[in-house]
Amino acid sequence: MACDFFSLATPGVRGLHPYQPGKPLDELEREYGITNAVKLASNENPLGPSGKVIAAIEQTAKVLSRYPDGNGFILKQALADKLNLDIGQITLGNGSNDVLELIARAYLTTETEVIFSQYAFAVYPIVTQAVGAKAIVVAAKAWGHDLSAMLAAITDKTRLIFIANPNNPTGTWVNNTDLVQFLDAVPESVMVVLDEAYFEYTRASESSDPEYAVEGYPDGMALLDSYPNLVVTRTFSKAYGLAGLRVGYAVANADISDILNRVRQPFNVNQLALVAATAALEDEDYLIHSVRLNYQQMQIVVKGLYKLGIEYIPSTGNFVSIRVGDGLACYDRLLHEGVIVRPLANYDMSAHLRVSIGTAEENQRMLTALGKIL
Ligand SMILES: *Cc1c(COP(=O)(O)O)cnc(C)c1O
Repeated sequence: MACDFFSLATPGVRGLHPYQPGKPLDELEREYGITNAVKLASNENPLGPSGKVIAAIEQTAKVLSRYPDGNGFILKQALADKLNLDIGQITLGNGSNDVLELIARAYLTTETEVIFSQYAFAVYPIVTQAVGAKAIVVAAKAWGHDLSAMLAAITDKTRLIFIANPNNPTGTWVNNTDLVQFLDAVPESVMVVLDEAYFEYTRASESSDPEYAVEGYPDGMALLDSYPNLVVTRTFSKAYGLAGLRVGYAVANADISDILNRVRQPFNVNQLALVAATAALEDEDYLIHSVRLNYQQMQIVVKGLYKLGIEYIPSTGNFVSIRVGDGLACYDRLLHEGVIVRPLANYDMSAHLRVSIGTAEENQRMLTALGKIL
């Protein structure tokens, strides 16, 4: 080839390492010739979407020749009502991954720095690298975010700080007191992106059974008025069970939202996703049911791990990271048992595997397979 198309790419993109998704079920079954495999690799809701969501999608199939509402008005209005926000504060995305990327594209340049924690969600280094900004990775403390060290890493060039609460893949979380103290100390010109992809599992807002609420857990939405540099992101991919549709959102002050809405694609959220997310918001019972199942099964899984003598990092999400020694070898043996989990070598946690909390049967399959292997 006359032209080196690799070197023609921008320096940021040339240095990218693509996101590694969980192995799809049908791929495992095809490759290993097994059936009835279970996937506990991508923190999906094991119950699937609610029946009301499926009904709404079926209705919408008939109008798919039309473009969706590019402003997503009905979904934004439903979110604004539920979360007590102004509609102008919301930016919808093709998954919250999309809004994380919009934030990076709108606010980062090659002259700016981005701070995130060691072991933080893999999308932060990707969106940072893609635009050629400089990633400042701050050492974790007990697997979690070390907020004081992150504060100390701020320089004149810092434009953005990513905080996942809870963090994926570690499941660690920061409490309200520490978060507020941190936000008080961050200069207003430094944006803080608080990624609450698992918020519903930890507190579930008004739907939370007090029994399941994690004490002292921050609600990013409640902090927005006090911190104009705060951006909170959430998703329909986890507790709402809509990972396959791709819909998430960012909430911030109206000026930031205005900027984010300028860079997004005109129709970045498709019609099925808009309708399904709106229906999911209305089905509060389903959300409660999903959160309870996760809570109960998490207890069972950690008890099972304890019995097997497997160390784990306590998690407030719908997943738990476990120490197995050689992560990749254990991952592969689990595949042969028909159980897909997530290896964490790309997080520099090669002794760990991340396991999503599934249904009772799926979790039992996973625990039995672990017991057999280890
Ligand atoms: C799963 C996840 C997301 C987003 O997923 P989307 O499907 O793109 O909404 C964002 N942040 C964290 C920490 C996650 O684990």
